Amino acid sequence: MNDAATLLPEDEARARVLALATPLSAEWLALDDALGRTLAEDVLAQRTLPPWDNSAMDGYAVRADDLAGPLPVRLPVLETVYAGGTPRQEVRPGTCVRIMTGAPLPVGADAVVMRERVRPVPDGGADQVDILEAVESGQHVRPRGEDAKEGTLLLARGTPLGIPELGLLWAQGILSAPVPRAPRVAILSTGDELCRADEPPRGRIVDTNAPSLALAVRRAGGHPSLLGIAQDTRDSVGEFLSRAHGFDVVLTSAGVSVGERDYVKEVLAAIGVQQHLWRVAIKPGKPLVVGKRGSTLFFGLPGNPTSSLVTFELFVRPALRRLLGHTDVDPSRVPGRLDGRLSKPPGLAHFVRVTAAWKDGNLWARPLATQTSGVLRSAATATHLLHFAREASSLSHGDPVELLPLSWGA
Ligand code: AMP
Ligand code: MG
Repeated sequence: MNDAATLLPEDEARARVLALATPLSAEWLALDDALGRTLAEDVLAQRTLPPWDNSAMDGYAVRADDLAGPLPVRLPVLETVYAGGTPRQEVRPGTCVRIMTGAPLPVGADAVVMRERVRPVPDGGADQVDILEAVESGQHVRPRGEDAKEGTLLLARGTPLGIPELGLLWAQGILSAPVPRAPRVAILSTGDELCRADEPPRGRIVDTNAPSLALAVRRAGGHPSLLGIAQDTRDSVGEFLSRAHGFDVVLTSAGVSVGERDYVKEVLAAIGVQQHLWRVAIKPGKPLVVGKRGSTLFFGLPGNPTSSLVTFELFVRPALRRLLGHTDVDPSRVPGRLDGRLSKPPGLAHFVRVTAAWKDGNLWARPLATQTSGVLRSAATATHLLHFAREASSLSHGDPVELLPLSWGA
């Protein structure tokens, strides 16, 4: 059988990964620290907001019915109400009140005419105005309870906390919120050829995967910890992994292919990690292994620097987001067009590193000149991954393509 036929499709692989991940236990955070997190519980409104109908415009509070006939309509102005003030007069038929944005709507009024649609009466002083335009009942009025009604659901569990959501909570006098805690993520590099960036290389290559993955974890909202560099022996990989306690996620890089000294898969099995997938029909990133032991997720990422980043983006980041309580976790996709040509044998979906730029109403994706996953050059300056479908074999200039925005960039 063709090797590629036995590999898992990318979306099915991600579905399997996500099935292993559920939101972590909740912690309470001050709202100042909760931006980008999600709510671990429903939050009910404790206050009705706005507390009263109020004006959305600087203008005149009126009874809409008074303006149903021929225009303009001349009305006496009973008083002026400012934001923070309280109306003293009722708007009876045939009268109006001057009102500022945010001021409570007086009793009797049901709409506001913006000041630009009102003309002062010559020699009438401030006491009378001519209204030039009819309004419908409710126009330019922010109704009581539009933001929140006491006792009803304000924000549901799982809602991502952006700035407006935090504003809704602050307005309730709520200063902290329960959110799934951030995942603790251990990162292990494996390979006899590796050294740390602060060591003299002496013929070795610098471990760039660990610090890169740590940044990617942090950007995804997790807390990374570096475990170090394991040698390519069962004992070394086993020792490092068995020391990794108290983590929600463990990431290793390299040693997951079919090379003679690729021990990661074997060691994971030996320490009791149940394997849920191995090898995905993608390039780069085919030799990915994913498993679980207890509540800890293990990802054996490929060693090539670009492959480890691509598999992080396609599988690890969605899993971290799920642990953080997000429901919308699949990589987002935007439509674009290919600037150039691409070809490949069918069998693997390729994730081509491209630089995309908006021009003449389209997002044009130009593949980077270098696509070999062994060098970081093939990821530097990329803004998107172009999804070159598994069964496709060629794409021409101008063809519509699916682009995944990258979270790596500056
Ligand atoms: P492997 O999966 O062990 O065959 O590694 C594939 C390639 O990735 C090799 O060329 C490694 O030197 C390289 N590589 C593995 N680990 C790292 C790392 N932590 N940082 C940078 N390159 C790595
Ligand atoms: Mg290796």
